[in-house]
Amino acid sequence: MSPLADRHGRTFPYLRLSLTEACNFRCGYCLPDGWRAEGGAGFLTLEEIRRLVGAFAAAGMWKIRLTGGEPTLRRDLTDIIATVAATPGVRRVAMTTNGALLARHLPRWQAAGLTALNVSIDSLDAGRFRRITGHDRHGELLEGIERALAAGLESLKLNAVLLRGLNDDELPAWLDYVRTRALSVRFIELMRTGDNGDCFDRHHLRIDLWEEQLREAGWTLRPRVPGAGPAREYAHPEYAGTIGLIAPYGRDFCAGCNRLRVTARGELRLCLFGEFGVSLRPLLQADDQREALIGRVQELLAGKAASHALHAGRTGLTPHLASIGG
Ligand code: SAM
Repeated sequence: MSPLADRHGRTFPYLRLSLTEACNFRCGYCLPDGWRAEGGAGFLTLEEIRRLVGAFAAAGMWKIRLTGGEPTLRRDLTDIIATVAATPGVRRVAMTTNGALLARHLPRWQAAGLTALNVSIDSLDAGRFRRITGHDRHGELLEGIERALAAGLESLKLNAVLLRGLNDDELPAWLDYVRTRALSVRFIELMRTGDNGDCFDRHHLRIDLWEEQLREAGWTLRPRVPGAGPAREYAHPEYAGTIGLIAPYGRDFCAGCNRLRVTARGELRLCLFGEFGVSLRPLLQADDQREALIGRVQELLAGKAASHALHAGRTGLTPHLASIGG
């Protein structure tokens, strides 16, 4: 079977699968009032996830990222990881988490087949972290990251959203942090979503600012490897870790798009900021629907736009990233 591709020459080896919309953090730019349950269909079951991942892997996808909401809030998370890891064709099982449960559960997730981890941590300062996320488990989070470093995962990355006036003076502290730690810290430029207009206006800052500071400090841009995501990765010979910059408003951001998203309720989203989603759930009810499912995804991919319209202020369907799987 030919790999999933669109008419702009992009191929899609990478699925970001949201397991839940629920989150236990209250990040000011995402869910400032916390998550509130809505009615309607529940989240995908383990069986639906098995069929979905089986079909996408049969169509050539080999990297699956579990995200949310907060994926670790799913009680059946370990079974989900094991199911995804056992799917023929899947080579990397990654997860993005706020890390609150990391120190306690990482050995279990890793034993089930987790190979890569992204942990979100917007500040190295406990008080700022509480202010940004509404959560005060900063110490446990740092402890969990140390354990993840020792656990020998294939990939360990930290995500921090750059926020004007809240954490935009922390580059020196982060450089100090990666001096001896072999991980990648990714700074993400704040994206405007349907719900966060005020926060965006107050705290959005172009990531280019930090790029200049990195260059001045002797950091150099690594050549892009084929199939890599949108981050611009910087390295320095005297540091064990690397620094990645993610600029969703940058010119090349969409040209390197290699991922599709499926929401916790089973909607395919062709773009983080797309205008529509299509439910795949009716095609996840029996094993013999696989071909029909792949056919439907290929058909929808043909309509994937070349670029999002964030520059024009169009945020699409996404009220906040917890609703789609950031
Ligand atoms: N709960 C998990 C976590 O905290 O990593 C996974 C979901 S969260 C939506 C995924 C990532 O998206 C986090 O690193 C978060 O900081 C980031 N994020 C959420 N809203 C964002 C926004 N408006 N702009 C940029 N990044 C955002």
